Amino acid sequence: MGTKIVTIDLGAKEYDIYIGESLLYRIHDMIPDDVSGGKFFIITDNNVSDYARQVQETLLAQGAQQCETLALHPGEKTKSFEIFQQVCEWMLSHKISRDSVVVAVGGGVIGDLAGYAAASVLRGVGFVQVPTTLLAQVDSSVGGKTGINTSYGKNLIGAFYQPGVVVADIEILKTLPRRELLAGYAEVVKYGLIEDLSFFEWLEEHGRDVCALDSDAVSYAVEKSVRAKADVVIADEKEQGRRALLNLGHTFGHALEAAAGYDGRLLHGEAVAIGMVMAFDLSSRLGLCTKADLERVEEHLAQIGLPTRAAFITPNLTQNAEKIVELMGNDKKVKKGRLNYILVKGIGNAFVSADVPQELVVEVVRDSLGSDDGQSLQEMLQDKWKSVFSSQ
Ligand code: ADP
Ligand code: ZN
Repeated sequence: MGTKIVTIDLGAKEYDIYIGESLLYRIHDMIPDDVSGGKFFIITDNNVSDYARQVQETLLAQGAQQCETLALHPGEKTKSFEIFQQVCEWMLSHKISRDSVVVAVGGGVIGDLAGYAAASVLRGVGFVQVPTTLLAQVDSSVGGKTGINTSYGKNLIGAFYQPGVVVADIEILKTLPRRELLAGYAEVVKYGLIEDLSFFEWLEEHGRDVCALDSDAVSYAVEKSVRAKADVVIADEKEQGRRALLNLGHTFGHALEAAAGYDGRLLHGEAVAIGMVMAFDLSSRLGLCTKADLERVEEHLAQIGLPTRAAFITPNLTQNAEKIVELMGNDKKVKKGRLNYILVKGIGNAFVSADVPQELVVEVVRDSLGSDDGQSLQEMLQDKWKSVFSSQ
């Protein structure tokens, strides 16, 4: 399988995303010439530090003048002010200069944190992303969002800062825990649901191969996803119009994540899977899409092994539907007090609407939390979901 290159053309800030295998051994070839002989600062986490070491060895063997590595604690807590300060001061202590390059080797946590540090230290140094999760490869490494969490919420401090290159080595996904892999897959499905029915159909046929990490299937899915996100990002770099479509399932999902308390029992992609089903449910109740569309989406996600109902979050969410709808109002995408919903007129046809009756939203959430609606499907899926967990 050859390496694929997707170019993100943001006018003055053009950069390439490489997708392929064994890329870490050739990373120097992908880094723009004007920086490849300078200083590198690799930020990673302890679960993926072997990959960081590989990057370091390759860069040093290819003539890098200096290459420092900082391995952080894995997990969302690392995206904090304290660690941000630690990272910046670590770079300064090793005499980082304007022509140095920060290399993020890790998932979304490391990418967001290292990207924000790269944007901030000396008012901006070079930045290379080596995403190691499926989620980061198809989503967070494209679009230039960087940042950290605060006690007021996630990702509330940050900057748009584009990398010079993204190196997505799909072989790295082999060590990714299965649950993390599936969570990333939810974002892949999202691209099909937003505006590409034929990609969704391809996923119905080959999603299992993607999740079994068949190289050709993963490479195709990552490329399609990256192109889909890039298309939207290029059209709309700072998130006004079309970029909002990327939030399909996310307003519901973020509220579920907040309700679950960010304690690891609900991964972002799992929340998005449930949220996308809710968005289809809401759209179907509004008569915008058919019930068959809703069932088709839910069935695909469930077959892959993703949760599709809030009822499947264990231990169960204690919040009631009203409380979760209230949490939706805290989402940072709320504009002038109005909550925008990403709805669908069918699979592959998403749009933004602010015109949704609140009672209907409460009903959708209530049913997802567990009611008698679709009982048999729900039971069937719940068993499936349990078996996925028990096989971890
Ligand atoms: P994301 O935000 O991209 O979902 P995180 O940065 O939170 O991901 O990473 C999820 C978890 O998976 C972390 O514990 C991280 O250390 C671990 N991880 C990331 N990539 C890999 C990989 N390729 N192999 C094994 N573990 C990984
Ligand atoms: Zn997401």
